[in-house]
Amino acid sequence: MVGAGASGDAGSTWAVLVAGGSGERLGADRPKAFVALGKRVLLAESLERLDASPWVDAIVVAVPEGWEEAAIVLAEELVVSKVAAVVTGGATRAASVRAALAEVPDDALVVLVHDAARPLVDDSVIERVLAPLAEGYDGVVPGLAVPDTVKRVERGVIVETVDRDGLVMVQTPQAFLAHVLRVAYAGDLDDATDCASLVERRGGRVRVVDGDPRLLKITTAADLALVESWLGSL
Ligand code: C5P
Repeated sequence: MVGAGASGDAGSTWAVLVAGGSGERLGADRPKAFVALGKRVLLAESLERLDASPWVDAIVVAVPEGWEEAAIVLAEELVVSKVAAVVTGGATRAASVRAALAEVPDDALVVLVHDAARPLVDDSVIERVLAPLAEGYDGVVPGLAVPDTVKRVERGVIVETVDRDGLVMVQTPQAFLAHVLRVAYAGDLDDATDCASLVERRGGRVRVVDGDPRLLKITTAADLALVESWLGSL
């Protein structure tokens, strides 16, 4: 853990920003969070947006081993004030979330987990995922309806057409009651690709609210170019 400054108050909302992936599919010479998006690195966009959000009290960032100092320098350059810690991420997304959660104080009420690979996070989606937590849900995720017909395929041959009714593509930021998320991450992480799946497995009630197509997760160079064009038109 590398201390970086701010610390949230009791009862606060902490953001965990996971930027610990290698981003191999992008084909860059550096981790995805540190590739250029416009004039800055990808991580700058979500970090600055979370820092500016009135809903977020403090932020923990998880980055690949060896990139901790770069993240602290970035936070200083951006003059963000809510970064409480920068941690070394793990081998999987779930391991990176777990490492960051260890820096969230026991008295935090809510944890908002966000992928740095989705730079265009904004206050409207943050508000949408936080609101239902006051209505008795353990977690809330943004989701988008599946526009295409979905098939299950084995060795290149369709074995089933999946009923797409009720299917959603889930994004981040995902919001959770802090104690629920801690319990979910205390056990086996298996190959969980999002936080909600671990909470679901332990019987948690997770609500889905409207996602945002602009929260596209950058995976390929084409995704990067698309998000760059959206950023330019904002
Ligand atoms: O690899 P993918 O883009 O699906 O990862 C989603 C998010 O999880 C990214 O923001 C990535 O940096 C993060 N991640 C991580 N640690 C890993 C793998 C992914 O923090 N080991």
